[in-house]
Amino acid sequence: MSIEEQYRTRAKELLSGGAVKMVIGYGKGTTPSRRRPLFITSPDDVERLMLDDACITNLSGYLVSEGLLSDEKRVAVFLRPEGIRAVNILAAESQLDAEQIVIFGFDVSGNEVQALKGIHVEEFSDVIRSIKEGAPEADEEELFEKIEKMSPQERFSFWQEEFAKCIKCYACRQACPMCYCRRCIVDSNQPQWINTSSHSLGNFEWNIVRAFHLSGRCVECGNCDRACPVNIPLRLINHRMAEEVLGAFDHFAGMSKTQEPVLASFKKDDSETFIL
Ligand code: SF4
Ligand code: SF4
Repeated sequence: MSIEEQYRTRAKELLSGGAVKMVIGYGKGTTPSRRRPLFITSPDDVERLMLDDACITNLSGYLVSEGLLSDEKRVAVFLRPEGIRAVNILAAESQLDAEQIVIFGFDVSGNEVQALKGIHVEEFSDVIRSIKEGAPEADEEELFEKIEKMSPQERFSFWQEEFAKCIKCYACRQACPMCYCRRCIVDSNQPQWINTSSHSLGNFEWNIVRAFHLSGRCVECGNCDRACPVNIPLRLINHRMAEEVLGAFDHFAGMSKTQEPVLASFKKDDSETFIL
């Protein structure tokens, strides 16, 4: 039985027995190579679930959509390792109760789909540890290395050019599981902190503010740069910030559901007394 069939069977059992009220997974997209999120509530619909190498979107953000978990019922969700890390962060930031989440874990290597053993977030700690210690994806690393070799001025020009393309559509924010604020700072206009029109200063402000907001929280799922209509390599900025946070604080985001947020917690004996 293929992994897709195994997970369909499991989804059917969970929905039929009332163990979960919904399964969030992947279904047919607009082209043969695309998948779109599917929200299944009836056991009769599980045949619509798909699982293959085109299932790349991190679906964890749907878990914090308004009211979904407020009835304390369980929801099952298809997640790759990045998505499981995101669930840990959302739990650590009190956005969801990890007990309500049933994970259909999977990973893709080449075009091979592998099932990940476990159901609850804590059962995937070895998988998450292996990402922390593993090498980044080759296609991403090439551009990353190129940017790293640039002088500060060249790097500044590179990002200036990239951010100049931004049209302030906020698709990156909408696609990001870590951007769950009910009201984003960019939507506030009294006072208006960030320019909403798309010009150099406002674009820089928006992208830099977002990068800082994601520091120590981004799971590098790539939802943002896949959503960006002008192809700004957003994940690279967040990858750089993740490296900084790992080096400075030995913090790899999403290791566990009890991991303290690195930039939103402090210790009373912290030598930097300004914080108190
Ligand atoms: S910033 Fe981008 S890569 Fe990071 S968690 Fe959000 S969507 Fe994923
Ligand atoms: S998705 Fe791209 S174009 Fe849209 S706001 Fe984000 S960076 Fe700008």
